[in-house]
Amino acid sequence: MKIGIAGAGLLGRLLAFQLSKAGHDVEVFDPAAHAEARGAAGWTAAGMLCPVAELQCADEHVFDLGLRSLELWPQIAAQLGVDVEVRREGSLLFAHRGDEGAAARTIDFLTRKAPPGFEPQALTMEQVRELEPAVQGPAHAWMLPGEGSLHTVQAMHALASAASAAGARWHWGSTVEKLESGALWVAGERREFEWVFDVRGVGARPDLPVRGVRGEVFTLHAPGLALRRPLRLLHARHAVYLVPRAGDQVVVGASSIESEDRSPVSVRTTVELLAAAHSIVPALAEARVVMAEANLRPALPDNLPRIDTQAGLTRINGLYRHGWLIAPAMVEEALCHCGLDPQSMAAVEQPGLRVKPAMTA
Ligand SMILES: Cc1cc2nc3c(=O)[nH]c(=O)nc-3n(C[C@H](O)[C@H](O)[C@H](O)COP(=O)(O)OP(=O)(O)OC[C@H]3O[C@@H](n4cnc5c(N)ncnc54)[C@H](O)[C@@H]3O)c2cc1C
Repeated sequence: MKIGIAGAGLLGRLLAFQLSKAGHDVEVFDPAAHAEARGAAGWTAAGMLCPVAELQCADEHVFDLGLRSLELWPQIAAQLGVDVEVRREGSLLFAHRGDEGAAARTIDFLTRKAPPGFEPQALTMEQVRELEPAVQGPAHAWMLPGEGSLHTVQAMHALASAASAAGARWHWGSTVEKLESGALWVAGERREFEWVFDVRGVGARPDLPVRGVRGEVFTLHAPGLALRRPLRLLHARHAVYLVPRAGDQVVVGASSIESEDRSPVSVRTTVELLAAAHSIVPALAEARVVMAEANLRPALPDNLPRIDTQAGLTRINGLYRHGWLIAPAMVEEALCHCGLDPQSMAAVEQPGLRVKPAMTA
């Protein structure tokens, strides 16, 4: 099929890769100046793949999509032809002495909401030191088994390169003004396709009631720290997560602010996030801040993801704070809706996976 994709962020790149690999004729349009321009939220994301921890602000369907995507990411990464770091050694939750009350409420909530086998498991600090020697400071810890992380910057590069190698064509500097069944409009010109995908994130307004939720993250260089898993501090005001990456890097995030302000990271966020990160990994004191970035998470009014399908047009949006966690399963579901062959997603039914009915709205 001749397919047009509006948006070359996370979803656009994943779609371009899957569809071109399956033999379709794919063209992608994005206002970014080139493939490495970091406008998409996909670049800024820390890349936590944490379906249980995300149950704090997501529903069961997001959990199921996350579980499915956790199976799909390693398979997709293996097909990209370059290294894309995917970790699946669990994630750790921490609380400081004095914060037991709030932490216990969160752990109780996750325990009630998580399906059997996915509940948080309490650890002693001795057990934590065996898993993550750099963690010093918190008094309480829990393991969320099976969770992990993915190197989003590597994946953004690799998905675009692999899609290009499979024949996808990219139109940079091209803003899609509107979409309709089988067509999209660029610079006043109607471009015809057999199917078009609207994956413009916050750029999909006014066709979708999407808003941007500002998030700020830091990339630190911390040689010798050797963290292996995502770490998250449970705290009423200073919630923070740390995500280790190849090259001795650690991503520290993230603020969540109801604003579409794309200006640089604030002093308040810098002080709060880095102090909270340092409180669980004191050795971060000597880390170097190599990047501070702000971007917008695309969110719909209910903060849940959505796939809208009509003949010749599919819109996917609202991935909010779980885009990397759920994107492969969302794409798989969207391709099923529009009758395109999702076989290339390496669809392997996993024991324990609960597939819910499609959520076409
Ligand atoms: C600070 C931060 C931390 C995050 N951390 C995580 C995390 O740890 N785990 C996780 O799972 N998710 C995380 N996310 C969320 C994740 O990044 C998003 O959910 C995901 O990127 C959304 O994918 P998308 O393709 O819908 O949008 P995007 O990745 O934003 O891509 C949208 C694309 O559409 C393009 N576009 C806009 N307007 C137009 C137009 N008119 N025509 C054509 N193209 C257009 C844009 O240029 C962009 O390239 C985080 C996000 C942020 C901001």
